[in-house]
Amino acid sequence: MFVREMTRPECIALVTASHIGRLACARDDHPYIVPIQYAFTTGRLYGFSMPGQKIDWMRDNAKVCVQIDEFADRESWKSVVIYGSYRELPDTNQTHHERLQAWSLLEKRINWWEPGGLKPAEQSVVGTSPHLFYAIEIDEMTGRAASAEPATTS
Ligand SMILES: Cc1cc2nc3c(=O)[nH]c(=O)nc-3n(C[C@H](O)[C@H](O)[C@H](O)COP(=O)(O)OP(=O)(O)OC[C@H]3O[C@@H](n4cnc5c(N)ncnc54)[C@H](O)[C@@H]3O)c2cc1C
Repeated sequence: MFVREMTRPECIALVTASHIGRLACARDDHPYIVPIQYAFTTGRLYGFSMPGQKIDWMRDNAKVCVQIDEFADRESWKSVVIYGSYRELPDTNQTHHERLQAWSLLEKRINWWEPGGLKPAEQSVVGTSPHLFYAIEIDEMTGRAASAEPATTS
């Protein structure tokens, strides 16, 4: 197996093609990681969530990491790591437009709200739901890809 660095366009292609990542945050020297669904646009990811531990932690410490991968088999995979900053999109005059943009990108996937909107013992996000939208501003992105054969440069 051969492992190589991915170019930035390759990283962006993977992040664009996928919609599931693992979001890591940290508080008081403790890491916390959960799978999330996201929508990518230039320079940032958008996400949807209910209040809870990850939102509390990211409000305290906005520095986060998101990992996204494509796994064919043990010798064939791609993985991107994004270092970024959490930014909430409340429904205010200042962020209303961006919140709608996040919503319109996320809703391209069927049942997009379900994994972020449902929790144990909670049934629905309709009505006066406290759901929220957020952005992860991408500060840095790295990628590695593995293949059975060495990559050709032509
Ligand atoms: C494919 C997929 C896509 C998802 N997409 C989204 C999304 O877009 N937005 C979103 O908000 N959530 C999404 N989820 C759910 C997400 O992984 C979390 O379970 C959820 O957001 C609750 O996180 P929280 O920090 O608010 O937990 P809380 O409800 O505050 O609960 C915290 C406690 O529950 C435990 N816990 C929470 N989530 C998990 C988990 N996934 N696995 C094991 N233990 C857990 C924690 O360890 C902690 O003890 C997705 C899950 C999957 C599998």
